[in-house]
Order: sequence, then structure tokens, then C-alpha cells
Amino acid sequence: MAFENVIRRVDPYVPGEQPKVKGIIKLNTNENPYAPAEGVIKAIEDLDKMDYTKYPDPEVSLLVHALAEYHGLDDDQVFVGVGSDDVISMSFLTFFNSGKPVFFPDITYSFYDVWANLYRIPFETKALTEDFRINPEDYKGENGGIIFPNPNAPTGMLESLDMIEDIVKANPDVICIVDEAYIDFGGETCLPLLDKYPNLLVVRTYSKSRSMAGMRIGYMCGSRELIKAINDVKFSFNSYTMNATSIVAGVASVEAEEYFRENIDKVIKTREWTKKELTRLGFEFPDSYANFIFAKHATVSGKDIFEALKAENIFVRHFNKPRINDYLRISIGTDEQMKTLIEKLEKIVK
Ligand SMILES: *Cc1c(COP(=O)(O)O)cnc(C)c1O
Repeated sequence: MAFENVIRRVDPYVPGEQPKVKGIIKLNTNENPYAPAEGVIKAIEDLDKMDYTKYPDPEVSLLVHALAEYHGLDDDQVFVGVGSDDVISMSFLTFFNSGKPVFFPDITYSFYDVWANLYRIPFETKALTEDFRINPEDYKGENGGIIFPNPNAPTGMLESLDMIEDIVKANPDVICIVDEAYIDFGGETCLPLLDKYPNLLVVRTYSKSRSMAGMRIGYMCGSRELIKAINDVKFSFNSYTMNATSIVAGVASVEAEEYFRENIDKVIKTREWTKKELTRLGFEFPDSYANFIFAKHATVSGKDIFEALKAENIFVRHFNKPRINDYLRISIGTDEQMKTLIEKLEKIVK
């Protein structure tokens, strides 16, 4: 058929499985095992029924203001989107237009190459070192922009502020995006670098640390000029990306700081316990600063463990990719879930 030639063909991103049955221990998509703050639920319940009939605020002013205040920025330095996937996708479209290749690590969030292909942006992946570190020298050649997560996914490795500054400073003519999806779990944010580097953008999400993957909220902080540019693209695309419930829920989450911190501390404590247990069972892993552990067993293959766990109704993530196909990415659940995981692993790797 002649029309075959006019269709945009893409290999889509494949998200982690969302099982439809109950009773699964779900450790495969880095969701938070704890509910969001009571205030978040109340904010949604309190929404006036007539608010459902109106279009939401296209500028998302309430949430933009709450986040700007939270981070000590001005309102025109924050852009909000439908999850950070929306924010990053829109960033590829807005900021990577030089025709030169965008650089990102070979082992990283597997959506980056999908967006690059979708928007026909050339890219080059830079191999992480043997121990999964970013080598800043790799990011100093001519390029059309840079993006990487810190901590990186799926490795959990944290890079220092100095290293990030080194990369951003070496690339004043392109946009550098740091995806801080997991920064709340113990990393040092590079937000303070925004004062010095107008080419830096920092992306955050409500999906992991804020327990709100289902609400789809992500945001980006940066210089006025860059935030205006991405807003112009958003308004050329869809004025009403953020729905009314997500906006009020997002504000309420920022207001519940104490609950938020307690939740994160619980996840970190469970993560550290899980690290000790995994080591005891013969697993190796990069030291994770995220809400997951990227682990490989000394003798049993990643695929075998993945399948054995699935048979026990425990879902983890396995990537069938070079360099990492013996690893499993295990999200941190509740203490009880992690105890069950360790009990099952104990039998599987014996
Ligand atoms: C989870 C994740 C995202 C996307 O998060 P959403 O806000 O749910 O779209 C982006 N980047 C990284 C590295 C992630 O792990």
C-alpha cells in the first residue's frame, strides 16, 4: 500500500508491567510503596464539583508557584508537565535542534533514545565505565545537547555536583538536562548550579519520592529564557496538559513536607537493609542512591532469577540488553515485601 510510506514508524518505549491481578509484590517500576499525604487526598476531595466543568488553568500557576517557592526560585523558572516523561519529551523537541548529536550514557533511562528517534534527533551514547560511572571527558566533544539522570537509572549510581558542573561548564553553547527523578532518596541536587549556568535544566517527578505516579506530575527548573521557550512549545501543542485534580494534589504534596521526609527516610532505611541481605545472598550491586537496587548474582543468571521470582508473584525489572542482562532492578517496597523477596531469593539462589 502506498500510504505505508507516509506513516511515522517508531519502536516505542516499553514500560514495566502493570499486572491486572491482585496479590502481586510489585517491585518493577520504582513506585513508592507508601500512600501520599492525607492532605493530598483531601485536596482532591475538596475540589468544587463545578471545577470539573471548567478547563484547568493553562499556566498551572498554583502548582508552579508552590514549586518555585519550595525550591527558592521565581515562578518563571518552573515548568510543569504530565509526568517528567512529558517534560523531557517536550524538552527534546524544544532544546535539541542543532542537528548535532545529543549525548547520553549507553546504560540509562531507556526512553531517551525513543524520544530522539521519534523527533529525528541524532544522538550518540557514551559508554559508562566498567563500574557504571559517567566519564565527564566523554561529554566534552561537539554535541547538540546532553541529558542524563542523577542518580542514574537503572544503576542507582550518584555522580557528584563537581562532576556535573564540569560537564555543564564545558558545554555553554548547548542545553544540559539533569533528570533528578531519584534525587530525593539521598543524592545532592544540582539545583544550586542554576544560578551560575543558564544552559542547565533540572527535571523532577512526583512519581517516585512523592508517591504519586498515578497523578502524572513532573516539572523542570531552569533559567527564564529556557522555561519560556518550553512553555511556548507546550502552548503550541496542548494548552491544557495538567488536569484540575493533579494541580491541587501537587500543591498539597509540597505542603506536606514532614510526611514526605518521613516517607523517604522509611524507603532509605529499607533500602539499606535490603543491600545487606542481598550481599549476604551473594549479590553484587552499585551502591544505590535511589529507591531501587540494580543487582547481579554471582552464579545465577538475571533472567533465571527474574522468572523464578515472577512464578512467586514478585515482579522485578530485567533488561534484555548488552552489559546489563545479568542484572535485576529491584524497587524498594515495604519492609514486609522486602522480607518476602529475600526469603524467596534465598531459595532461588541456593
Ligand atoms: C520514572 C522516571 C521518569 C519518568 O517519570 P514520570 O514523571 O512518571 O513520567 C523519568 N526519568 C527517569 C530516570 C525515571 O526513572
